[in-house]
Amino acid sequence: MRLVLLGPPGSGKGTQAARLKVELGVPHISTGDMLRAAVAAGTPTGLKAKAVMDAGKLVSDDILLAMLEERLSQDDVKNGFILDGYPRNVAQAEALGHLLAKIGQPLDAVVKLDVPDEVIIGRVEIRFKAEHRKDDDPVVVRDRLKVYAEQTAPVADFFAKRGQLQVVDGVGELDEVTARVKRALAQESAAANG
Ligand code: AMP
Repeated sequence: MRLVLLGPPGSGKGTQAARLKVELGVPHISTGDMLRAAVAAGTPTGLKAKAVMDAGKLVSDDILLAMLEERLSQDDVKNGFILDGYPRNVAQAEALGHLLAKIGQPLDAVVKLDVPDEVIIGRVEIRFKAEHRKDDDPVVVRDRLKVYAEQTAPVADFFAKRGQLQVVDGVGELDEVTARVKRALAQESAAANG
């Protein structure tokens, strides 16, 4: 199963991906986690990305594509993956399409978690108190939501136009949301198998 999870910051992509990876037996690839690891390790990519991330803006497409290409060349993605945090704009969606075509691993499903802004703001506030991520600061979150609306929301349209988008209600108990995503994936594979 090759799956992209879309949704605004705080929509639960990371949480749901961590649960789904166990059920689907494929790795969870979070570009945000990869970048945070690069920052923590002080790599050249991390040094370039830190200020941009702290401001809630998008790190450059070139850096992300190189990172993703390297990750998707590893053995553990042979049976699929759950991509969380990429693509973040239409150029990245196009780049992903080319990359997956090149390695012969097209996407099976794209699921967007739908969560209203008021719910997001409340959730991220809780995460900020627990994890102290600079980009979860309430002021920065508003900027991240703006970046999402301007640059990432069109990615959902990009996949919708190709008939690949499934929208799932991301509000509710964790188990319930996981069950909704699984139902969407089951529908997708039933449709794919005719
Ligand atoms: P996330 O954990 O997915 O919310 O990502 C945290 C931050 O990492 C984002 O606010 C961006 O600064 C950066 N980031 C993660 N994924 C991407 C991406 N695909 N393109 C650009 N920046 C990204």
